Amino acid sequence: MSAVVPPRLREIPLTLPARSAQPPGFFRRGIFFVLSAPSGAGKSTLRENLRPKSDFIYSVSCTTRPPRPGEEDGVDYHFLTRPEFEAHAERGDFLETAEVHGNRYGTPRELVLRHLEAGIDVLVDIDVQGAAQIRASTDPLIRDALTDVFIMPPSLDELRRRLLKRGSETEAQIERRLRNAATEMERWREYRYTIISGTMEEDLQKFRAIMKAERYRSDRLLPAKG
Ligand code: 5GP
Repeated sequence: MSAVVPPRLREIPLTLPARSAQPPGFFRRGIFFVLSAPSGAGKSTLRENLRPKSDFIYSVSCTTRPPRPGEEDGVDYHFLTRPEFEAHAERGDFLETAEVHGNRYGTPRELVLRHLEAGIDVLVDIDVQGAAQIRASTDPLIRDALTDVFIMPPSLDELRRRLLKRGSETEAQIERRLRNAATEMERWREYRYTIISGTMEEDLQKFRAIMKAERYRSDRLLPAKG
């Protein structure tokens, strides 16, 4: 089984964000920002817009879904075959996994833990099943670091409009995503924060406000050594 495991998941180096979010005179462990939203709620645009102010790293997930036009391996996702994915899962390489719209998705464990330990904030964009698994984690590093945020689309009609505008799914796929969205939207209360999606700019500001407040929490700070 292990013969099919590509080594690359374990070789991902520690990435330093362009700007440090460490407060002077203190050491703060990384915050684990877990972002969920039904597909089409504007989450990937939000992610893109957050990137220029990169004082955190984005954890690239693994998936068995085929790449969409323009998507790049290692940037948007690590695109794996099912046997590759299952082999990683068996070895415990994922922090969580889920089946979404008929495809497998997973968050690389080592990458997230190593960055949090080094005081680097990590953002993941995962579905409600994955977020629930992370919330149930008994690892103290994960428990202390976790900040979960749900982006609620204004309505299912608006979501349908956004998915149609994106134009990357067939009608049947859109219907499937909308059914899934309705189920996901019922679970917003499980998250510490909920952003009702408005304009891109509004969503961005609200998410930034959450990031900022979480970084000021006293219980995240340790006096710097030396
Ligand atoms: P898409 O195929 O549209 O990129 O993503 C479909 C769904 O899978 C989205 O809700 C997205 O958040 C979720 N997803 C992406 N990566 C992961 C992951 O690593 N774990 C889980 N549980 N869900 C993921």
